[in-house]
Amino acid sequence: MTDLHGMIALVTGASSGIGEGTARQLAKAGVTVGLVARRKDRLETLKASIEADGGTARVFVADVTNVAELKDAAQALRDEFGSVDVLFNNAGIMPISDIDEFKTDEWDQMVDINIKGVLNGIAAVLPIMIEQHSGHIFNISSIAGRRVFGQGFSVYSATKFAVSALSEGLRMEVGGKHNIRVTTIDPGQVSTELLEGTSNEELKATIREAGADVKMVQPSELGEAVVFALQAPEHVNLANLFILPTSQA
Ligand code: NDP
Repeated sequence: MTDLHGMIALVTGASSGIGEGTARQLAKAGVTVGLVARRKDRLETLKASIEADGGTARVFVADVTNVAELKDAAQALRDEFGSVDVLFNNAGIMPISDIDEFKTDEWDQMVDINIKGVLNGIAAVLPIMIEQHSGHIFNISSIAGRRVFGQGFSVYSATKFAVSALSEGLRMEVGGKHNIRVTTIDPGQVSTELLEGTSNEELKATIREAGADVKMVQPSELGEAVVFALQAPEHVNLANLFILPTSQA
């Protein structure tokens, strides 16, 4: 089992949900966490909470659509702690709507954050990991990156298929050549604020109703799976984690 103490991780989308829960689990396992998101107050609160529990965290207010901001965050971690061992490439949005509503601004935002944001995360850490000849990148796709969901999910689903393809291609390119592990995570329903970004109130209500009887995965539980994947021996890569509520079809 790999000991995680002393490892350094950059976590995007750390201000809520899966990113926050995973940052807490990583910190608990001894990993220093760099917390990235746009909402500074939430990141500062998380940092204080992690440090009150004996962990180490740094706050980086950054937008994942801005590659320079992500590179600065990765470099700052490396300058202070000497390495960047983990990228939890997680920031994402899900403003779902029917295609014939033509909410093209929301389509653009999903492409920019869910796809280009993930690419930017990779661009920020990969040169450092290549130089180290080690590292582990987790890209957060979705069950919607394995199955096409219609009913308002078409564009979101398309962005997540892109993340899955990119992540698997990255794994093939950097595993053997650079000794870097890549894990694609496909969560099902996780209890977070993700649906709040949806402006179609009818769709929002339908999805809430459909999930009412589901005991959802908690962000901290997903974080435990991330810790498990990191703890595997260095030559073992858990390439895909498909994490669902037991009752989700
Ligand atoms: P949340 O809404 O709770 O978290 C999303 C996070 O992404 C926030 O921290 C938000 O921070 C950050 N974020 C959004 N846009 C940007 C941006 N431009 N720059 C930097 N950070 C940004 O949702 P989840 O935790 O559920 O979502 C995390 C990931 O998990 C997403 O990629 C989502 O698609 C995926 N997922 C979630 C599932 C679920 O059921 N919850 C299922 C499958 C996949 P801030 O606004 O402060 O910038």
